[in-house]
Amino acid sequence: MSQDTQSPSQPSRRSFLSLIAGASLGAVGGGFVTSQAAQTQSNAPKAPVPNIVQVPPVTVDLASGVKIHAIQTGFVAVKQAHRQLVGLEAARLLSIAADTRWTDWMPINTWVIEHPQGIIVVDTGETSQINSPGYVDCDPVTGLVYRNNLRFAVTPQDQIDAQLRALDIDPTSVGTVVQTHLHSDHMGGLSAFPGAEFFVPEADYPAGMGVLSCHFPTRFTPRFAQFTSSDIPGFAQAHALMSDGDLFIIPTPGHSMGHQSVLLRDGTRNYVFAGDATFDDVQLRNVVIGGIVADVGMARASIQTLQTLVREQPTVYLPTHDPDSRRRLQQAEATLL
Ligand SMILES: [Zn+2]
Repeated sequence: MSQDTQSPSQPSRRSFLSLIAGASLGAVGGGFVTSQAAQTQSNAPKAPVPNIVQVPPVTVDLASGVKIHAIQTGFVAVKQAHRQLVGLEAARLLSIAADTRWTDWMPINTWVIEHPQGIIVVDTGETSQINSPGYVDCDPVTGLVYRNNLRFAVTPQDQIDAQLRALDIDPTSVGTVVQTHLHSDHMGGLSAFPGAEFFVPEADYPAGMGVLSCHFPTRFTPRFAQFTSSDIPGFAQAHALMSDGDLFIIPTPGHSMGHQSVLLRDGTRNYVFAGDATFDDVQLRNVVIGGIVADVGMARASIQTLQTLVREQPTVYLPTHDPDSRRRLQQAEATLL
């Protein structure tokens, strides 16, 4: 759980925007709340793992020589209406703000692929700074949404750079970072990779719903995927990341306008690092749309495209916040429809 401490929020910040953010609806009282403080609120989630500061990484060695590390950069909890769309689509942000039901703590996974041609990081997770006063307020509007509708439990030891060093991987040796999207819990470790080439979704950069662009590293000059024709089932287009044709960026828009995933081919099996295309594989199997979604139609189409892939080829499906992703990775368990 978080070791950070917080000062109370400033009531003067309340405004019309606070309606969207939920502050005036009494959901959490308008404060930016750490995991410890959250425990004092009746509706807020309890701390995930008392007395345990870190979930250790999971490492899998594939027959091809590729190694995958699952690194969990702490926990996030959201409103139930954030995790799953309820009510009117057009009123989804209000539904989230009004919801007093919280999810359990969910993992914030990142993925590190040690490939013969280089080290690739998929998402950089959350930073422990997320619970520091003012961190999200560099963008006052987006900050209100974060402060009122999400809870984080992230220690400095949870951060991706600290965990990479513990694995004897120097973050400066990482050659490629692919961001599935730029929500805070996916981009908090961007500055840990000064030597990397970054791929971010073109439609989400430099601004988009939930993007804290104020925390982009200085001299941040990311690239965008160039999608060309592919033979991946369901995906007419993909961006090849490696010359040997086993690692791709695939478009999975909807959760954000440009949301993208990463696909690794290992023999006849695929591994899909799916970001927030869905919150878990149950949502993939049942075509359940999240409540925090930029475009519902695109999100549904992306899930159906992923279903085509999963139907046609054994695919280990790994969303960021699925508590079962790490087990499926360890057991190379393909999702069955
Ligand atoms: Zn997201």
